[in-house]
Amino acid sequence: MYARLPEALKEDLQARAAERALTVNRALVELLEQALARSAQGGSVAELEATSTRLTEELAQTRAGLREAELRLRAAREREQLSARLQRALAERARHQLASCPRCRQPLRGSDFLVSGHCPNEQCDSPLSSLLTPTPNGAPEKDEYLALLGALGALVGLALATPEQSEP
Ligand SMILES: [Zn+2]
Repeated sequence: MYARLPEALKEDLQARAAERALTVNRALVELLEQALARSAQGGSVAELEATSTRLTEELAQTRAGLREAELRLRAAREREQLSARLQRALAERARHQLASCPRCRQPLRGSDFLVSGHCPNEQCDSPLSSLLTPTPNGAPEKDEYLALLGALGALVGLALATPEQSEP
């Protein structure tokens, strides 16, 4: 359940930004060549002004597009870092004792809840689902318990949040 951003996606985002920059550069050069050709043929000032306006708009759109791609890439990186931090926090929480088994008093850690769902005492092996209620009877470390649930919820939310893939 490690939600690491795949290297391939990062490369794809970077490649797309670079590709777009190239495409727009080509378009700008073509527009400029057309403008110069028309100017050599004695085009009107109004025509030149219109071309200049178009070029300016094109350039502004390019910059906006590149900025958007940049922001998307940065958001993906931040999401990856957040995921790594949450995972560390969760692993940390999972090692702490959260409660005691209501049957045999064996200390229960977060990982017992998350992984096995049973008391780690082999003679007991009592299911822990009864402790996962809003008012758990045998869970004195309620703050720890809630913090674990919070970290778990955040991690699940992160895993469910699909990165934006929409085309511009
Ligand atoms: Zn037990």
